[in-house]
Amino acid sequence: MNTRAFNAALLPGLVLAAAASTSLAGFYGDPPDQFHPWAIHDDNRPQPPRVEPGTYSTQESPGKPPSDAVVLFDGTEASLANWLSDKEPAEPTKWIVKDGTFQCVPGAGYVRTKAEWGDCQLHVEWSAPAKVEGSSQGRGNSGIFPMGQVEVQVLDNFNNPTYADGFAGSVYGINPPFANALHGPGEWQVYDIVFRRPIFKDGKMVTDGHLTVFVNGVLTQDATPLEGGGGHRARSKDHPFPEKGPLKLQDHGNPVRYRNIWYRPLPPRSADGGTDGKLTPEAATAKRASIAAGIRTAAASKTGNAKLLGLLESLCYETQPEAVAEAGKLTADYAASLEGASADVLESKKGEIQQLRGALDYLNRFKIIPAPPALATIQKVIKERGWDDKK
Ligand code: MG
Repeated sequence: MNTRAFNAALLPGLVLAAAASTSLAGFYGDPPDQFHPWAIHDDNRPQPPRVEPGTYSTQESPGKPPSDAVVLFDGTEASLANWLSDKEPAEPTKWIVKDGTFQCVPGAGYVRTKAEWGDCQLHVEWSAPAKVEGSSQGRGNSGIFPMGQVEVQVLDNFNNPTYADGFAGSVYGINPPFANALHGPGEWQVYDIVFRRPIFKDGKMVTDGHLTVFVNGVLTQDATPLEGGGGHRARSKDHPFPEKGPLKLQDHGNPVRYRNIWYRPLPPRSADGGTDGKLTPEAATAKRASIAAGIRTAAASKTGNAKLLGLLESLCYETQPEAVAEAGKLTADYAASLEGASADVLESKKGEIQQLRGALDYLNRFKIIPAPPALATIQKVIKERGWDDKK
């Protein structure tokens, strides 16, 4: 038995509310609260957008990005148009496209994207020179800088110790990777990164931002706090990031190659750093008001029981006095219409009567509005008709 069926069995009437219309989510799971603008299992909550998944890369060939990815390098010369030298004023980069790869030319300097963005899922593949030269930080060194602010280290550490917080897959100067999951030099390494920038409000940091990194599918950073972004030799300090910035790739003097670079912007967080699911009380109240307004607008174009149920549903999100009053009046009118109705009429309305009872019960149980006197009338009809009796 699934959860919905189980709850419905416990609460006769609610199954009808849930099944009769996808707009009656407010009467199913626990209602919105101080921090959560949505009910549990709320059918009013928007459906996730469809994304066609991509394919995984192999050593021989890069995979395909997911359908909504913003592609920054796809192996073509045309991809160069997405990049500039990281100089002021910017100029075309001297990094080259060769054999479908984007290659650092030592001395050419960092590159940066023309596009700027903030929080993202970022996919980058890189390969250190097959011919091993140098040691420690001098072997196959480059770097990936989301927003140009903080380095996810690129380094040939396959058989090459260095200081731990400068390892491949580290947040440079902040946190070593959990593991060294590199392939050998000359092979392709796949980085999948989740980046969240720090958020400041009124001069105070409300979230310090973080980086999650997978190296060749192995987790090396798990929401590592950014602590201002790290750096070389110096301990960094928390500071606000801009809202957007370019992705930068480092020239550290080694001809590191890149391929298959793309990102997906992440949904924005609220100013308090929360997500859509959990907000500050102020943000939750505002969101609930907006959801309620949408439901009231939809209810205004309906009539009869559908209008009443819409108004009642809106109360789960916001007990706007006008909506409470109108719902109260419609409920009383509805209950009055049942008194003296013929058995045939009552049977024909069985579904909607049970649905209304479920909604009023729910609102009372969660102390959203008290049970109106009309509920007693509705209960009486249900009892007399034996609709709750086990068959
Ligand atoms: Mg580096």
